[in-house]
Amino acid sequence: MIAYIPNSLIVFVQNFDCHNHSIFSDGLLRPRELVELAKKTGCDAVALTDHDNTGGLAEAETAAAELHIRFIRGVELSVTWPAKSSVAVAATADLNPITIHVVGLGIDPLDATLVAGIASIRDGRLERARQMGAHLAHMGIEGVFEDALALAENKDMIGRTHFARAMVTRGLATSVGAVFGKFLTPGKPGFVAHQWASLGDAIGWITGAGGVAVLAHPGRYKLSKQEMRQLLTEFKQAGGQAIEVITGSHEKHQYREYAALAREFDFMASRGSDFHGHGESRFQPGTLPPLPDDLVPVWTVLQ
Ligand code: AMP
Ligand code: MN
Ligand code: MN
Ligand code: MN
Repeated sequence: MIAYIPNSLIVFVQNFDCHNHSIFSDGLLRPRELVELAKKTGCDAVALTDHDNTGGLAEAETAAAELHIRFIRGVELSVTWPAKSSVAVAATADLNPITIHVVGLGIDPLDATLVAGIASIRDGRLERARQMGAHLAHMGIEGVFEDALALAENKDMIGRTHFARAMVTRGLATSVGAVFGKFLTPGKPGFVAHQWASLGDAIGWITGAGGVAVLAHPGRYKLSKQEMRQLLTEFKQAGGQAIEVITGSHEKHQYREYAALAREFDFMASRGSDFHGHGESRFQPGTLPPLPDDLVPVWTVLQ
């Protein structure tokens, strides 16, 4: 990728995309197909960061070696924050727990503590999905759990995206995003609250496995400015080193907002499309703008 920086030379910026999904969680492509796409769209490096799962890494890594594209082993962990142990609970007692995502980059997927940790996050997914199906059935929408389960290639990893796809097929909304807005977000009838990992545990599993912990799409969390600062403070204290600045989940004004917070908190910055599939994602791998040139890209510390 070529970026033009005013008053300086044209510089070559490496095109890294550090956040993507495959059928091993809620993506639509096989790991190999994702890597092929990233090659086609001009990525120099691509990460596979499936939710709570590292099952697709070996296939992606093999494909990347064949295609001469750099591969980054990743994962995206589901976290409930504030966790019960968090100081923020006392500080903001009325704050509802929210789900946040922490991306781990450069992890060793065989690390025993990481393996056990992500297995423990996955454990409740199927039961949560059954409850979602029961809630929807209660309002007269029958059989969505069964449809969603059929769509989930990896049954352990059934999630809201599979429900959303099943519900689009039934004509209950026109897009996956619209199903989320109508049925699957907090306060909506198909939403079931769930306890994921604590922030400290998730970051500990990632760093213990040799990885770098990156706060995923911070602009997506419904937090006040003060709560966001509390989250960033706790994230840093627990060993988090980077935040996503340029992500498919941010609007342009949020690129600036989170670049400023990365500077303020001295975080490295990450860039990733959060690609799930054609027709569902706003950006293909490697097609987002580059990181602001004064920020330190997270990949500078990856092997
Ligand atoms: P789950 O882990 O089952 O709670 O599902 C989380 C996934 O749902 C995220 O990783 C996104 O892929 C997807 N998702 C969450 N919110 C939305 C939304 N508003 N529109 C579309 N997809 C969403
Ligand atoms: Mn997802
Ligand atoms: Mn996410
Ligand atoms: Mn993601």
